[in-house]
Amino acid sequence: TDSDTADEAVRATCDDATICKRFATSKSYWKDPYIQYFVRSVGERKAPEINRGYYARVQGVNHLLDAFIRKAECDCQVINLGAGLDTTFWRLKDENLMPRKFFEVDFPTVVARKIHYIKTKPPLSKPLIETHSTDSLLLDAHSLDSDRYCIIGADLRDISNLDEKLKKFQLNPELPTLLLSECVLVYMTPAQSSNVVHWAAETFHTAMFINYEQLNMSDRFGQVMIENLQRRQCILAGAEACQSLESQKERFLKTGWEHADALDMMTVYSMLPQHDVGRIERLEFLDEKELLQQLLQHYSICWATKDKLNLGNAQLCY
Ligand code: SAM
Repeated sequence: TDSDTADEAVRATCDDATICKRFATSKSYWKDPYIQYFVRSVGERKAPEINRGYYARVQGVNHLLDAFIRKAECDCQVINLGAGLDTTFWRLKDENLMPRKFFEVDFPTVVARKIHYIKTKPPLSKPLIETHSTDSLLLDAHSLDSDRYCIIGADLRDISNLDEKLKKFQLNPELPTLLLSECVLVYMTPAQSSNVVHWAAETFHTAMFINYEQLNMSDRFGQVMIENLQRRQCILAGAEACQSLESQKERFLKTGWEHADALDMMTVYSMLPQHDVGRIERLEFLDEKELLQQLLQHYSICWATKDKLNLGNAQLCY
């Protein structure tokens, strides 16, 4: 059916993200020794503005994620929604920032692929085994569950199933919880993404939700972005919720979150540690400064908090 085709096109977007991240790391924009195990080759050259855009995305998200884990002194859990082939679990392990448990959710077919890579690549499976203490490691074709890392195959549009599966794998609603969605909610209708955000607000009393996605989709540049994806049968069903920074924050403030902030990526880029930004700007010559600006103005990070335990979550920023 049409909706199966659309879902398949959405699943394929996790390869785009990984291919672009792999290319940018091959150019030393940032380090990721694990991404090579998820994409075979470095692949075609990407334009410098694309690499800088991914740099801003990864550094921007990591900044808030790491700050939350530090505030909670690792006594917390992370749930990466629509995680695709993301490598954050291994980075946190290497940086001694492992939360009590790291959860990932994606469609079952994406999860099956990721688990296959983990099973067959020792540099991926070793850290998982090292952080596991008993003989109960679950590693079958469709799910992975260890003490510290759990990957669940589920459709985020089916909240009761999501909630049930997370609880089955020892999700603890009492722990400070960081939820992350990176280019995921935009593939759902505004009602479906609101449900996800609402479920999170209802489930956790001390939490932060970081959402990275498209912004300003109603202007000409935004329309071109939408058309490019449509050409691949990929529908940005949630583009409407990405009209403005205000609408990004609204989604959270309307569904039970106490506090929300949102910035476009041009602003985030200007607030990242400038010595590192200087370093990456010397990596490749960028001819089209305006193109980078336009691109960065069409993505945003929105983060929302609830803070019953008074960790000081609401103060986290750039
Ligand atoms: N977050 C990863 C990253 O930034 O590298 C992957 C981003 S990729 C653009 C979007 C991911 O969201 C895909 O892996 C896709 O399968 C997943 N996704 C989209 N809609 C979903 C849904 N309804 N249920 C589960 N996963 C979904």
